[in-house]
Amino acid sequence: MPLSKTEQQHREEIVEIGRRLHQQGFVAGTDGNLSVRMDSERILATPTGMSKGMLKPEDLVLVDKQGNRLSGLRDASSELRMHLTIYESRPDTNAVVHAHPPTATGYAAAGLPLDKPLLAEIVVVLGSVPLARYATPGSPELSEVLKELIPHHDAILMANHGVVTCGTDLLQAYFRMETVEHYARVSLITELLGKQTLLSSQDVEKLMELRSRYLGSK
Ligand SMILES: [Zn+2]
Repeated sequence: MPLSKTEQQHREEIVEIGRRLHQQGFVAGTDGNLSVRMDSERILATPTGMSKGMLKPEDLVLVDKQGNRLSGLRDASSELRMHLTIYESRPDTNAVVHAHPPTATGYAAAGLPLDKPLLAEIVVVLGSVPLARYATPGSPELSEVLKELIPHHDAILMANHGVVTCGTDLLQAYFRMETVEHYARVSLITELLGKQTLLSSQDVEKLMELRSRYLGSK
């Protein structure tokens, strides 16, 4: 068993991943938000209205599982509700990343899910990435829409909005965000080339077997 991280280590990790999201161009201005479930009662989240590329460990906000602030000088992200919904429905998940990576968000704005079996490793690592129908960011309606998808997916496109990913830890949730954007870019290139050769259903079946082993080994 790995030693559990201290609160300070979680704070530093959120700052580091926030910087990466910004450097990759996955967020603009003060977009995006991140959180980590530190234990059964406490969630550490990014504050509202700050660039994820310029956070300091002390800017983060500690909340309980209902979203009430336990410590921190700032208000938590206006989209915290979405994070709390994910933690509630997925006990296996301890981190959530939300961003607007341009290509995947383009698919979300076009009303297109990323659910075609184009790349073998994506099928194994992510399965498919569905599109949640539009609801106002931060609203209870968005949580309701996501509730249907969260149990079966680690990455979800949100129509006319962006992408949310989750993971057993923050690095995994962040890597899934990178993978979704990479998948969207490759998918877009096949659209530009005017040709997509999809994996056959037999090949997808074999990959899904690998996926269940992959998920079992996590
Ligand atoms: Zn958002």
